[in-house]
Amino acid sequence: MRPRLAVQWVGTAGFRLVSGDHHFWIDPHLSRHSLGELLRGPIAPKIDLVARTVDVAHAVAAGHSHFDHAIDVPALAKLKGARVYGSSDTLNYCRGSGVAEAQLHEIRGGEDIREGPFRFRPVLSQHSTIVLGHVPFPGRIERPLAPPFRASELRVGTVFGFHLESEGGSVYHIGSANLVEAEMAGLRADVVLCCTVGRQSTERYTARVLDALRPRVVIPCHWDQFWRPLDEPARQIPTNDIEGFLSEVASHPLAPEVRVLPLCGWTRIA
Ligand SMILES: [Zn+2]
Repeated sequence: MRPRLAVQWVGTAGFRLVSGDHHFWIDPHLSRHSLGELLRGPIAPKIDLVARTVDVAHAVAAGHSHFDHAIDVPALAKLKGARVYGSSDTLNYCRGSGVAEAQLHEIRGGEDIREGPFRFRPVLSQHSTIVLGHVPFPGRIERPLAPPFRASELRVGTVFGFHLESEGGSVYHIGSANLVEAEMAGLRADVVLCCTVGRQSTERYTARVLDALRPRVVIPCHWDQFWRPLDEPARQIPTNDIEGFLSEVASHPLAPEVRVLPLCGWTRIA
């Protein structure tokens, strides 16, 4: 039976949301270069790995332009014809990768977008200061950027949270462990797709996410070692402390259900 709303975690902050027969991807990171490849550079998307995981894609959105969020966005557009939603930074990367201009939709935050059965609202947010108090690879992508490139050339650009709603419920995606409550005013979400790495650099992160969105389900993401292959079991990033995150969720007055998915695992929301 077709789901009213189902979610697949594809590693890092990457998800596929399915409502009916409509497939909406967020932050797909399927190339998963090894640490050696990242350090040696330059890198390019691994199209064969993307094609192996992505069968259908009507739309794809990137919450920011770092390589572990945006590197495979052009491949979904070119292989599957997906519409792309992203900052001007992400779109410049897509342009440099040869995505047709007609597929590119710039977001700035606060729009109310219809995408198949989804109502899609990008929300201005911030990146966590995960590396020694700083945002890694700061700045913009001001011109079309073609692969290969060093990972650091995919600069952060504008950062968004994503609110999506279909008849099966509402979902909020946080790709980097930070938030701007003023931009989220009035939003609620049944499910939060919640970045956990770097949360220690954002004051009271977990409680603030739950206070703002009041979810009944939390799905942690960006806790896995994203430089390891997608077809091997996920291992936690050493600094991530998912146990600490789980106890923060459990001690919040709402105490929402937590679903920790395996790599490429699905969960049905409705
Ligand atoms: Zn990032």
